[in-house]
Amino acid sequence: MTNKHIIIIGGGAAGFFAAINAAELHPGSKITILEKSNKLLSKVRISGGGRCNVTNHCFEVNELVKNYPRGSKELKQVFSRFNVSDTIAWFKKRGVDLKTEPDNRMFPESNSSETIIDCFMYEAKKYGIDIKMQEEVLELKSVTNNQIQVTTDKNKYVVDSVICSSGGHNQKKNYSFIQKTGHNISELIPSLFTINLPGNNIKELMGLSVQNATVRVEKTKHQYTGPVLITHWGLSGPAVLKLSAFAAKDFFDLDYNANILINWSGELNEEEVKKVFEEFLQTKTQMVNSPLFGIPKRLWEFLLEKAEISPQKPWIELGKKQQNKLAQVLTNDVYNMKGKTTFKEEFVTSGGVNLKEIDFKTMQSKIMPNLYFCGEVLDIDGITGGFNFQNAWSTAFVAASSV
Ligand SMILES: Cc1cc2nc3c(=O)[nH]c(=O)nc-3n(C[C@H](O)[C@H](O)[C@H](O)COP(=O)(O)OP(=O)(O)OC[C@H]3O[C@@H](n4cnc5c(N)ncnc54)[C@H](O)[C@@H]3O)c2cc1C
Repeated sequence: MTNKHIIIIGGGAAGFFAAINAAELHPGSKITILEKSNKLLSKVRISGGGRCNVTNHCFEVNELVKNYPRGSKELKQVFSRFNVSDTIAWFKKRGVDLKTEPDNRMFPESNSSETIIDCFMYEAKKYGIDIKMQEEVLELKSVTNNQIQVTTDKNKYVVDSVICSSGGHNQKKNYSFIQKTGHNISELIPSLFTINLPGNNIKELMGLSVQNATVRVEKTKHQYTGPVLITHWGLSGPAVLKLSAFAAKDFFDLDYNANILINWSGELNEEEVKKVFEEFLQTKTQMVNSPLFGIPKRLWEFLLEKAEISPQKPWIELGKKQQNKLAQVLTNDVYNMKGKTTFKEEFVTSGGVNLKEIDFKTMQSKIMPNLYFCGEVLDIDGITGGFNFQNAWSTAFVAASSV
């Protein structure tokens, strides 16, 4: 339909993607972005250490959705409309080639988030998108003909559709204009953090990592296997960040005090670990000289001491009791978490607009006609690796197609 007026709330990743696609898909429409701050695309600029991790090299929708602690079910439908290949093609069509790193993260070839920003600014200009900065949306109200009256701190607009892409926040007051429409905001809690182990001397081994360890939170069902890194504060690495995201609510309820159990062997149980010992038990090799499971030598020594075994002991002298103790330390090593640390400033808020109140075929509100949502304002969040931006691109595309 031509001559529609569409307002986009928020000049971030989802807002720009929605605005550009709406302009392209609905020629003749008037599109206005309202941004409350004096900056556009500020998170895009600092994302991925200034390189912008645009998406992840994961083309199977069923695999892709596994990277979202909240929203995976709903995103299945959205990704069937706009997925990772669509993201790659979208940017390529506009002259931005993406490259894949060995861990599957995808970045612009230029290694600079400015390339993404330049692309968005160029497209916005091309389509004549009106961008109003330092204008904050305060209220949305349904008026006649299912139009929406948007009240800001400067103006009042009556428009045909509103796409709300106001992002994730850790304070409820930022969602109050949405709450006033009747939408519920699910609990806002941090996701993607590292584990603090105050007073634990494992921190002296900072910088060491194990490629395939399993971390879990005692008394919960959450456990993840992957690289674990020992840091100045405690524990980090992909497995820990994944745990922090999927167990975000449990950690919050436990006030970030919990026992963290590590299986340094990966996924073997005590009996299987003892089987691995068997071939060494015939040898006179000193235990310190034969670390198992890819555990770095200094960490192996630390774990031997934890199992009360002298690192110089030859394997052949390792008694049954000590074998049991070592197998236990290797598979069920306990650390007392006290607090968390934000991961390189890269955090997301779990929580946001309740997903039950959205029709994921269109991203339209089930409460207010012609109001659409996309991006991190929704109760959707992904783990690190480009998944949060993929959520922004896909939900924004579906909203833009539907207005
Ligand atoms: C340091 C950092 C690094 C990151 N790196 C990556 C990465 O490499 N890859 C990845 O996938 N994810 C990354 N993320 C997460 C990713 O940046 C976000 O998921 C994504 O930016 C969300 O986009 P959005 O448009 O929904 O929200 P935002 O980018 O937060 O944009 C929302 C905009 O709305 C504006 N706004 C809010 N309320 C109003 C209002 N009432 N009226 C008008 N305007 C309003 C805000 O000022 C803001 O500009 C990173 C996050 C951080 C903090």
